[in-house]
Formats: sequence, structure tokens, C-alpha cells
Amino acid sequence: MLDFVGELKRTHMCGALRASDAGSNVVLMGWVNRRRDLGNLIFIDLRDRSGVTQVVITAEAGAELHKKAETLRSEFVVAVVGHVKLRDPGTVNKNIPTGEIEVVADQLRILNDCKPLPFSPADSDIANEEVRLKYRYLDLRRAEMQYNIQLRHKVAIAIREYLNSQGFYEIETPFMTRSTPEGARDYLVPSRVHPGEFYALPQSPQIFKQILMISGFDKYFQIVRCFRDEDLRADRQPEFTQIDLEISFARPDMVFAVVEGFLTAAWKTIGVDLQTPFPRMSYDDALRKYGIDKPDMRLPAMTEVRDVFAPENLASLSIDANLPVVAVVIPNVGELSRKERDDLRTLYPAKLAQQGIKVFDDSKRLEKSFPDAMAKVGERSGAGEKDYVVLVAAGVSAEGSHSEQPAKATKPSAVVTGREREVYEGAGQVRLALAQKFAERHGCFNKRDFRFLWVTDFPMFEWDEEEGRWNAAHHPFTSPHEDDMDKLESDPGAVRALAYDIVLNGTELGSGSIRIHRQDIQSIIFKALGMSKEEQQERFGFFLEALQYGTPPHGGIALGLDRIVMILAGADSLREVIPFPKTAKAIDMMMDAPTPVSDKQLKELSIAVVEKKDL
Ligand code: ASP
Repeated sequence: MLDFVGELKRTHMCGALRASDAGSNVVLMGWVNRRRDLGNLIFIDLRDRSGVTQVVITAEAGAELHKKAETLRSEFVVAVVGHVKLRDPGTVNKNIPTGEIEVVADQLRILNDCKPLPFSPADSDIANEEVRLKYRYLDLRRAEMQYNIQLRHKVAIAIREYLNSQGFYEIETPFMTRSTPEGARDYLVPSRVHPGEFYALPQSPQIFKQILMISGFDKYFQIVRCFRDEDLRADRQPEFTQIDLEISFARPDMVFAVVEGFLTAAWKTIGVDLQTPFPRMSYDDALRKYGIDKPDMRLPAMTEVRDVFAPENLASLSIDANLPVVAVVIPNVGELSRKERDDLRTLYPAKLAQQGIKVFDDSKRLEKSFPDAMAKVGERSGAGEKDYVVLVAAGVSAEGSHSEQPAKATKPSAVVTGREREVYEGAGQVRLALAQKFAERHGCFNKRDFRFLWVTDFPMFEWDEEEGRWNAAHHPFTSPHEDDMDKLESDPGAVRALAYDIVLNGTELGSGSIRIHRQDIQSIIFKALGMSKEEQQERFGFFLEALQYGTPPHGGIALGLDRIVMILAGADSLREVIPFPKTAKAIDMMMDAPTPVSDKQLKELSIAVVEKKDL
């Protein structure tokens, strides 16, 4: 028999009771987290979002109350009227904040019961994620998820408050719009009133925020949902949340200071004080030192050591002397046997061999053959006794030096291009593969060691091998570097963009740029991207026109909120910090979406579904 709440009003939250509350009368309401029945005594751990408190029902409280308590099961919803009592010293539980007290029940009302559960929200490890997602409402009751969602709230509020304090306006932009320029696949929404026409869900509010600058709002932000229909990876969701902002008359420094400010506020929510300003590094330096544009700086940088080897040394190792020789150091790995080294080779990307990039992993042998050179490698790279040093270099191919026929630059930068780039990137991949493998030995992957970095001066364009043309490396509204304007047509690969990424421990948290605010330059960029006049008009005509009505210089950035909260929560998946996420197959397991819709709905939308093979 269930009870009604009646006149009862909750007086306290379960997790808030402390020793100082002893003697108080309380009314608690919550869920039965666990129940222990010792015959005379029944204990219930009563849970609400603030935590758990122990409720005791004694036989003395009366047969009726005791009997009722016997019927309680996990996740029943109850109201308890009682008083707070200090626990006997022997039964104090130091592991929970309410462990010094318990609530002795005088009255119990069962407000709702609960079916046998697929899993208990009282458990911390539930192996089957699909079951968790299907019963997300139960999963979200778990202490870990309550913590993560609360953290997400605190982070969002901290960011909002900071941006508000800096004079930003929070302005909403539409979800039903047209294709935006990020270049991923759109989610489309059919229009009923305009048969055959579609809205696109925004991949970001990019165009709107630029328009808001044209409209004179000066500083805009939004914590906003974005939609991209991309193949999902473990760390991607089809809809995700960005902290999106734009500033008029901005220089990169101004954007950096704002981001550093709100990240500092966000990190405070977990009690960490960030040091600002964050270090900055050009894209080229990132490639040379880390072999990647999102360096994990918790590990030592790579070192270029070609010049310590005499040309005949390089020749005897069949190394292409025109290309870099990169030393990769992984700390504290210790002695490795031949077999262990051989096994490591399976970790390196197969592409390296195809590119003719060699990994020299037997440093003992190199030391024997080239003692002086290897001593210098040690000195320059700062490698200690127990550190593992490998050299990565381009081999001389059968036809001779590769460097005489530079590979087509797939993502050229201002300086590091072609084969040179392949060597650095190869070394960067070897560095990361070894670092993963020996994570326990070097201990550098401490989740609480937060190494932020600004990566600047990205290349403006990247070469699309399949299409045989240049693509915008960021998006086509990004301004080229003022000093590189003259190369836009003659040498697009060498043009730097006023684009920047914020990177943390090897992941990109966000990217942004100073935008093009002049219509003439925007047209040149569209042209460089191979967009015909008609196509420019068709895709961005309204925007090209808007640019001509007194557009102020402006710039901005967007950071992924989900990822930030995931890092702050110390979680391993975005799904741990998104209340209702989708699976890797873009399915909502709880709602069971997507689903077919009725013929009637399709008809209204003038849509006929055909099988893919019939297209
Ligand atoms: N709209 C861009 C993105 O989502 C960010 C920006 O340039 O502000 O990647």
C-alpha cells in the first residue's frame, strides 16, 4: 500500500546532515539506496541528490512501522519523519559526510515503489554501457553521474559569470538555418510549407556570430548546441555543446585572455588554480618539436639531431641526409630486451614503412657504432640513463633520396612541408605510441597535470588529394596572415592564417580565428578555394553582401564544453558528462531514436523514402 505525501514538507537534504544536527527533528524524502534487515533493526540508506543518510527503524518504534519498513526495496521512494541521533562511536562511518549521525524514524511513508531493477543505482561500476544508456534515468541516479552533471552545471555557470563580467552578451541564434561553413555533413530538417526544401541544423553559429558583430553587439557568447553528421568516434557526438564567442576589433591576444579567464573560472570548480597566460607555440614549432599540431607537453619534446652525425654515418645507416633526424625520448623506460623492442614495432603506424620512414630503436648498438654522435644526442635531448631514445629519420629509397621528389603536401604549412613534415609527423606518432605503451613507467600522463597551450599561425589551406584542390584548413571566413596576403594566389600552401587552437594534454579543446572583414579579401579566399562566383553567391551570397555594410574587424573562438567537463570530471568518455548522449552509432538508446515515421508524416513533408540501392 502506497502512502500520500499529505501535509509533509521536506526539511533537510539527506546528504547535508551533520553531528551538529543531533537532536533535530527532520523530514527527509528520497530513494532507498540500500536496505539492511537485521530483524529487530532495519537500516535504510536514504538517498537524494545531496548524498546518503542512514535511517534506523527500531522494533520499539512500533510493529506497524517496522512491518512497513520490511516491505521496502531498492529505489522505493519514501518520506521519513524522525530525529537525528549521534551514532555510537563504534559505528561511525568516516567514509561519508553523514557518517557521524543517523536518523531514527518515527514515521515512514512509502510514496512510490519500484520494479526489480536492471541494475542498482547504488553500484559504482556497471559494465554494460548499453543497459546504462537504455535506463539512463536510473544511471543518472548513480553518485558518479550526479557528480558529473552537477559539475557540468557549475562549469557552465562559472563560464557564463566570467563572460558576463567581461561585458559579453549571451545571444541565441537559430537551430533551423542553412548550411554553415565548417565543412562537415549537415543534419537536415524538411520544410512542410516549402516542399522539397530543407533547413540545416547549424554545425556552429559561425555566420550568425559574425553577423552579430556586423550588427554592433561587440562581444557575443553562447553555450550552444552544434550538429555535425560525421562518422562517430569514441570522443564525438552528433550533437555537442560549444562555448562560442566573438569579439569586435579583436586581436588574437584579446581572444586568448578571455579564454584563459573563463578556463581559469572553470578549473576553479575542481579546486585547481591555473597559471596564465598559457604558453604559445606556432604550428611549425609544434610540428618540429612534437610532430603534431596538438602536442601533449607532459612528455619531453623531440629534438632534431641530424647535424651530430657525419655524412658518412648517415650514409651507413641509409638515412636521407637532406631530411631531419629526430630523437624521441621516453623517460624512465629502463632496459629493453631485443624481443621487447621488436614487439614495439607493431605499435608504429604501418604508414611509416610505406613512407620510407625508419625507426632506429637499438640505441646501444648506435652508441657502439657512433659513440660521439650518440653522446651528443643524449646531451641535446636531455635523455637520462633510464630513458628510452629512438631516432626517426627518412630512409634513402632505392631510387635515391626521397627529398629530391617532395611528396605532394597534404597539409602544407608555412615552413614544414612535404617529406620534412612526414618525418616530423612520423616521429610524433612514434613518440605517442611509445608514450602510451610505457605510461606506467614514465608516469607523465597524470590526469591532474594540466598543460595548456596555444597553437598559432596555422596554415590557411590544406590540399585535398581526392578533389585536387585547396580546402580551408579552418573555415573560409578565417583571415590570412596580413604578411602573407601576396602569396594567396602564387603559393597558397605557404599562407599562414590568423587561426589558433587551444590545446590541453594532447587534445584540441577549441579553435578560432580572426575573421575576414573585407568583402574583397573574402572573395579572393573563396576563389582560392575553387568556389565559382555562382557558388559563392548561392552558398554565402547574403553574407558577402552583409560584409559590405561597414563590417568591423572581428574574431573569436569556440571550445567544446563536453570535452572540458569530461577532463574536469576525470572521465574517459564524453558520454559520462552528457545527460542523454548517443551511442557510437548515433542512437539514443533510451528514446530509441532515430525511428521510421508514419506515411502520413512523410506525405505532409512531401518525402518518399527509397532504398539506398535504388538511388
Ligand atoms: N565555428 C568554429 C568551429 O566550430 C569556431 C570559430 O571559428 O569560432 O570550429
